[in-house]
Amino acid sequence: MAEAKTNLLGMPRAELESFFAALGEAPYRAEQVMRWIYRAKVTDVDAMTNISKSLRGHLKQIAEIRVPEFSVGTRSSDGVVKWLAFTEQGQAVETVLIPDAGAAYDGAAENSTPARRNTLCISSQVGCALDCSFCATGKQGFNGNLSRAEIVGQVWQASRELAARGDARGITNVVFMGMGEPLLNFEPVLDAADVLMDDLAFGISKRRVTISTAGVVPRIRAMASHTDVSLAVSLHAPRDELRNVLVPLNRKYPIADLLDACRHYLRGLGERRAITMEYTLIEGVNDSAGDARDLAHLLAGLRAKVNLIPFNPFPEDRNGYRRPSPARIAKFQTILLNEGVATMLRTTRGDEIGAACGQLTGTVHDRTQRRMRYLAREGVSAPTRTAP
Ligand code: SAH
Repeated sequence: MAEAKTNLLGMPRAELESFFAALGEAPYRAEQVMRWIYRAKVTDVDAMTNISKSLRGHLKQIAEIRVPEFSVGTRSSDGVVKWLAFTEQGQAVETVLIPDAGAAYDGAAENSTPARRNTLCISSQVGCALDCSFCATGKQGFNGNLSRAEIVGQVWQASRELAARGDARGITNVVFMGMGEPLLNFEPVLDAADVLMDDLAFGISKRRVTISTAGVVPRIRAMASHTDVSLAVSLHAPRDELRNVLVPLNRKYPIADLLDACRHYLRGLGERRAITMEYTLIEGVNDSAGDARDLAHLLAGLRAKVNLIPFNPFPEDRNGYRRPSPARIAKFQTILLNEGVATMLRTTRGDEIGAACGQLTGTVHDRTQRRMRYLAREGVSAPTRTAP
């Protein structure tokens, strides 16, 4: 059998330089190739005309640029677009484009207003092994990790679509808030983040690349020595007994340890940067005035801002969770603000096409055994939930 070719998509610059060094080539070859892949969106080595014919010939034998296939996008009336990205194993994950409110992405270049910000929400795993009680992705089960090419490929494809629609701004922000737990797919995710931030690739600033985690404490600590991207933590509860129910991973890594790891990560960031604490508001579960006060006290002294996400319902929900009323949400936010905690309310976008937070399911063939083996290997005990 022919040996598999190296996929150059998603390979960080330093590794690409070593790749060329091993071929006896100069490091600037990496720069040339990166420009072709990410700026010109070229996947055919033969089209890389500033590379000699003989090197192209050699390169084609050992390497390729393999991009995951994208479905036709589904567009919501509020401008959100959702794609399925197909994996090499024949599964599908979801990628969601969220243009700034009011910006148009209507497929007709002549009358579309370029968005000020184009945020892309990308997936890092096929399904998710963590099974948070309020998230649809966990209900699909878990099938494995995406490769760094499959992660970067989502941004590559979406930015190509934007260019084709005449939106010159491209992708301005990337959030690892799609399917999966990014820190349980550590190296591919960090490699991908590297490429997203590289000026020769997407050139997105570290403030605009956000990794979101349910709280894999040792990995948050490890992140500190590898990267300084923005970090978001899915907190959702100010007390362990409640968080144990919503985010079963909390049994392994309780809130105090999680906040310690956050402080550690914050030390590597500039004074002006904060961690985002995501808090999905579920009526009667975690949205009382007391919960808001507990949350404010918990976060006192930490460089953190709270992002409130009204719960988005999904068909597989067995808990009967509901979104609180706007008045209740406003009250929760006001308490936090009065306590001096910077708090934003995330507007719900894309829910009519199942593209809102917690609604992403893709096409995942669950392998429960795989999930258990995976969690065991990652040192995370299989979360089993007790009744609320
Ligand atoms: N596993 C990572 C990445 C997923 S991020 C993490 O947990 O951070 C997805 C965000 O949407 C998280 O903050 C998650 O808690 C939130 N979310 C999940 N399900 C939701 C739902 N049904 N309604 C609103 N927000 C939800």
